[in-house]
This record gives sequence, structure tokens and C-alpha cells, in this order.
Amino acid sequence: MVKNLLDTYKHKGMRRKLVKKISEKGINDQKVLDAIDKVPRHFFFENAFLEHAYQDKAFPIGQGQTISQPFTVAYQTQLLQVEKNDKVLEIGTGSGYQCCILLEIGADVYTIEYNKVLFEETKKFLPSIGYLAHFRHGDGTLGWPVFAPYDKIIVTAGGPKIPQSLIDQLKVGGKMVIPIGDSSNQVMYRLTKVSDDKIEKEEFDFFKFVPLLGKEGWNKK
Ligand code: SAH
Repeated sequence: MVKNLLDTYKHKGMRRKLVKKISEKGINDQKVLDAIDKVPRHFFFENAFLEHAYQDKAFPIGQGQTISQPFTVAYQTQLLQVEKNDKVLEIGTGSGYQCCILLEIGADVYTIEYNKVLFEETKKFLPSIGYLAHFRHGDGTLGWPVFAPYDKIIVTAGGPKIPQSLIDQLKVGGKMVIPIGDSSNQVMYRLTKVSDDKIEKEEFDFFKFVPLLGKEGWNKK
């Protein structure tokens, strides 16, 4: 895959326009907008698809998966209320773009990808462009127990229900953002763990994500 790993004024200009569009759509957390402004999204695209990198839409990244729409990334990140030094667990590394946004905000990111090919690619690619996270290959619906508990958990694929393992691995006072629904659309939820056995649940807009697989996802094996 031929990529252009130079970030020029042209790219920065395209990015500024994208940030403007996203803020017009209702994202107002400056930390999130600044992160979108900083991460070179075209690094995730083949040269030939440069024009697509700064449009507000999802795009295929191979293995039948997609790099999420910038608005969706910003929306989930804003709901998550990420603070500098938060320990964040991400389910669905995919291209790694969302992971970079979290890193730009100053989070310590633990990210899990189910697809082996994507896991291998992204685990190599992100450090090569200067983004350091902890990568794991496996079923993210089971979380990553050895590093638990997490301040924040973000699920970037749509599942049928909220995985209990993820609730268990959230800190008291922590938040999880997760789309839940069927294969055609999902509602965005924000959960706050108010005590060891109490979860507060808020409902937001509808989205369409790729399916969350795994034990507490769509293919129960
Ligand atoms: N955050 C990504 C979005 C990728 S799409 C980005 O910024 O590009 C969702 C990803 O979730 C896909 O790569 C898919 O393979 C992965 N996925 C699906 N079910 C999973 C599971 N149970 N555990 C970990 N990853 C999963």
C-alpha cells in the first residue's frame, strides 16, 4: 500500500475544514476538536484516496472493516470525557485512528483488535508515525483483565448488549461509551459506574457500526 506520510500545509488546511464541519455538527469539546486537528488522517489512507481522508465519512480499510467517520470518532470521544492520563480501554483498534485521537488527548490507551491481520498492521503502523499504545489481539468483549480497572472504556463496534466483563473492568466513577442495537443501527450509550454494583445509563443518538463479534458480541462461540 502506497502512503504519503508527509503532513503539509495542504493537509493541515483540509483538516481545519474538517474540524469546522464537525464543530458545526455539534462537537464543542475543544480537546476533541484539537485532537482531530492534529492527527493526520490521510496517513491512514492510500495515496490514491487522499481526497477521502478529510471528508466526514467512514472508509474501507480492508478485512471488511472501516475507519470510522470523523464525526462518530469525535462524538464518542466527547461523550467519554477523556482527561489527560486517563487509562482508556478501546475495543476495536481497526485502523488505529480513534486510538491516536485518545493519545493526542493524553490518555494511556489499551486497545484490542479481534482481526489478526488488522492487529498486526496497526500495531506496527501506529508507532511508526509516533503514536504509542498497548496493543492486544483477541476478543475485546472480555476486556483486558490484567490492566483493569480502567477510567474509561470505548467500544467502536456495535453489539447486542453491554458486555459484563467490561462493566467489571471499569473503575468506580469511570465511564463507558458503547453502541448497542441490531445489525442495521445502534443507540449510543454512556454508562457511568456510580458504585461497585450500580450503573447509570444515558442514551444518545443512533449510529451504524460494524458488528461487535466475540463471546459477548454477535458470534457466541
Ligand atoms: N476504532 C476503529 C474503528 C474500527 S471498526 C478506527 O478508528 O478505525 C471496528 C473494529 O472492531 C474492527 O476492526 C473489528 O475487527 C473490531 N472488532 C469487532 N469485534 C471485536 C471484538 N470482539 N474485539 C475486538 N475487536 C473487535
